[in-house]
Amino acid sequence: MTQSRRDLSPQELSGVGLSPGVSIGTAYEVEPQIVAMYPIRIASDEVTSELKRLHAALKESRLQLEKAREKLEAELGKEHSHIIDAHLLILQDPLLLEEIEKKIQEELQSPERAVREAAENWISAYRSLEDPFFRERGSDVEEVVQRLIFNLMELDSHGQEGLPEDLILVVPEASLFLLVEYPLERVKGLVVKRGGTTSHGIIIARSYQIPVVAGIQNLKEVIRTGDTLIVDGTLGVVRVRPSEQEIRSYQARVRKEQKLQKELVGDTSPCLTSDGQRIFLYANVEIDSEVPLGLRLGGGGIGLFRSEYIYMKDKQKPVSEEQQFKIYKDLAKVVGGRPAHIRTLDFGGERHPYFSPILGETDTALGLRGIRLSLRYPEIYREQIRAILRGSAYGNLKIVLPMVSDVDEVVQARRLIQAAKEELLGEGVAFNEEIEVGIMVEVPAAVIMLEALCPHVDFFAVGTNDLVQYTLAASRTDDRIANLFKPLHPAVLKSLYRVAQVAAAEGVLALVCGEVASHPVYVRLLIGMGFRHLSMSPFAIPEVKGRLREISCLEAAEMVKDVLRQATLAEVEDYVNEFMKKQKTEVIS
Ligand code: PEP
Ligand code: MG
Repeated sequence: MTQSRRDLSPQELSGVGLSPGVSIGTAYEVEPQIVAMYPIRIASDEVTSELKRLHAALKESRLQLEKAREKLEAELGKEHSHIIDAHLLILQDPLLLEEIEKKIQEELQSPERAVREAAENWISAYRSLEDPFFRERGSDVEEVVQRLIFNLMELDSHGQEGLPEDLILVVPEASLFLLVEYPLERVKGLVVKRGGTTSHGIIIARSYQIPVVAGIQNLKEVIRTGDTLIVDGTLGVVRVRPSEQEIRSYQARVRKEQKLQKELVGDTSPCLTSDGQRIFLYANVEIDSEVPLGLRLGGGGIGLFRSEYIYMKDKQKPVSEEQQFKIYKDLAKVVGGRPAHIRTLDFGGERHPYFSPILGETDTALGLRGIRLSLRYPEIYREQIRAILRGSAYGNLKIVLPMVSDVDEVVQARRLIQAAKEELLGEGVAFNEEIEVGIMVEVPAAVIMLEALCPHVDFFAVGTNDLVQYTLAASRTDDRIANLFKPLHPAVLKSLYRVAQVAAAEGVLALVCGEVASHPVYVRLLIGMGFRHLSMSPFAIPEVKGRLREISCLEAAEMVKDVLRQATLAEVEDYVNEFMKKQKTEVIS
């Protein structure tokens, strides 16, 4: 079979920018089934030992396949074992082995990378064939490669040596595990095939200022581990193997952006609009280590602490009450009198706990997630509530219930909170007896039932990411329907307006903590609707603060009136774009 050689000339790929900024680094193709990273390069004196490692992994893979074949034959009969035979043939192909060894010896590639590169030529050659039988062989090669790389990594003693400092992860989907499992300090960019603007992987990338470009379909054919990449998340472009001159001009842009960021940081003065209205800005955080950063960047507290991330670190079991207590206590001490809104566990969608055997069925956005899950497993909830209550003795913690769709859920959750309080009282443990309990307003049912919910809550936290998703029935994680996931849709705007109005009429504080709270256009609309509390990723705070100084609440309210008169999404977009053009600011995408 002739193998297709890949084109090594510089290329530009266009996609959608999901997290702004520019970075330059080395491509690393993430193996979807394998968590952890392998080295990219080896030293010349490691060639012999690395070849040995390759052969050991080949042997291990062969043994595994032979064992699988035996089992299959015993259980299902000989006629089914041809699948394994096909894999064994690929594994033992002398041409493939020769190519892998050459890459290790001559190009000093790590065996993992050499296997990936050599096999990739075969995979794309198979996949380009018309005949479905041969196309399928491409998948067989892929499976063999995954097995081999996995076995190589088991035998790897390098740790993270051999991994470049500036990694650009190249992935099929911007899943969350990426950013939980990989060394974030080294990840300088993400290039993804699929990923919606508010998928959690993307939200985290944004919080860490990691540029992201999504929607690149042919990335596997063009990008390989080890290639130099420029990721421009602002323009939605990836430059593959750029020229020296291109790299220099991008480096200059990176320096300029960093300088601008530095100038914006450190301003702790109150946030006032041009007509003197006070706006309260807070930080959204996923992990406790982000809290000081959020406060330093000007957050007047933590508007959303996504507590489920505490659970996602441990692969085996739920985090104990004591471990959680320590985190909440530290958080309370850092914020002191400033509020920290701790959202109780909100697994579901893409966020999976690793102790899945108990909570394993939480994988749909419409399923057993948020408060539903906590009410189903009161023992897990009890521990979390006790930990938060105990932490509340040290600072201004508040409890937020996620995914509420019915008053009864709030009543039940409050009953459990009350029971936990009584336990602590009985044990003589200190906590804030007046701790506030609010809900996320992110399900249309909650918007509709807002008046009925008011007597049961101390505040509302408006989650626009889910509210847009559920109002428009458009998944927040699927960029194929990005044209439908539109926060500017009149139905979403009317819902938000209703929340602002009802909350004001009933005297309940409403805080907006979805992604739109930091969007240049949306900030204006939210202020115009009457919202005065906004929470966003820490790095967005300085810019939003600067922008708010130029916005008048009165003018923004006028704009909202006009916008709410529009009947279609297109009309709203036209209106807003026209308005922003007059203001000479960016238009909405
Ligand atoms: C939201 O839904 O808008 C929200 C803030 O919560 P999350 O993004 O964590 O679902
Ligand atoms: Mg949500």
